[in-house]
Amino acid sequence: MSLPSLRIDVLTLFPALFDGFLSQSIVRRAIDKNLVAIERWDLRDWAPGKHKQVDDRPFGGGPGMVLMAPPVVAAAEAVRARVEPPGTLVVLSPQGPRLDQRRVVDLAAQPRLILLCGRYEGFDERIIEILEPELLSIGDFVLSGGEVAAMVVIDAVVRLVPGVLGDSQSAVDESFGPEGGLEYPQYTRPRVFRGREVPDVLTSGDHAAIARWRRQQRRSLPSRNPGLTEPS
Ligand code: SAM
Repeated sequence: MSLPSLRIDVLTLFPALFDGFLSQSIVRRAIDKNLVAIERWDLRDWAPGKHKQVDDRPFGGGPGMVLMAPPVVAAAEAVRARVEPPGTLVVLSPQGPRLDQRRVVDLAAQPRLILLCGRYEGFDERIIEILEPELLSIGDFVLSGGEVAAMVVIDAVVRLVPGVLGDSQSAVDESFGPEGGLEYPQYTRPRVFRGREVPDVLTSGDHAAIARWRRQQRRSLPSRNPGLTEPS
């Protein structure tokens, strides 16, 4: 069997959070078709002692607990060295550059990603200094942990891996795709709903006219994004 195009290793204190996510829909199909391999690793497996301690109180005082450098660095280094290539290490952090589709395209072109999920008050700074990861935020807000952020990254990246989407054109037409802007309006049956009709061109059978209409609508799509203006 050929190697998957993309391998993703997730380092987390809560591997079970990914159970449902990895067992359904597009991500599941990508794994089943061996297009993507996703492994989860429990950071506690690198914590010493009976209590498997991974966090401790912050020096200098303050609330909460901080992830300790020794187990987290050991885990990341061990997972990185496990297979070739070492891959791109990404630390999910609200302090990182914000994820956008351009970054998603870059990540999807990598052969291997290692996603490190934080918890509690976050990471001992030396983890970042030693591992020199790329930081990545999914938005300017604070989650309780990096797992949901890692799922966002996995979901967005996996659908761009060749062969994952049934029709490779979907990713091209979509919002933020190579065409730029937002996707054209979509309709399905019924043809009339509460007095609103599907635009005639879409049922005309004239493929050139449909393509033209979609190109034009793409530019002028009334956006829910306040940064874009409504067409007059
Ligand atoms: N004390 C940290 C701060 O103020 O920057 C926040 C820590 S947060 C409660 C715990 C973990 O959730 C982080 O280490 C990170 O892995 C993850 N996280 C929280 N918000 C995130 C975001 N917007 N994007 C990516 N990861 C996030």
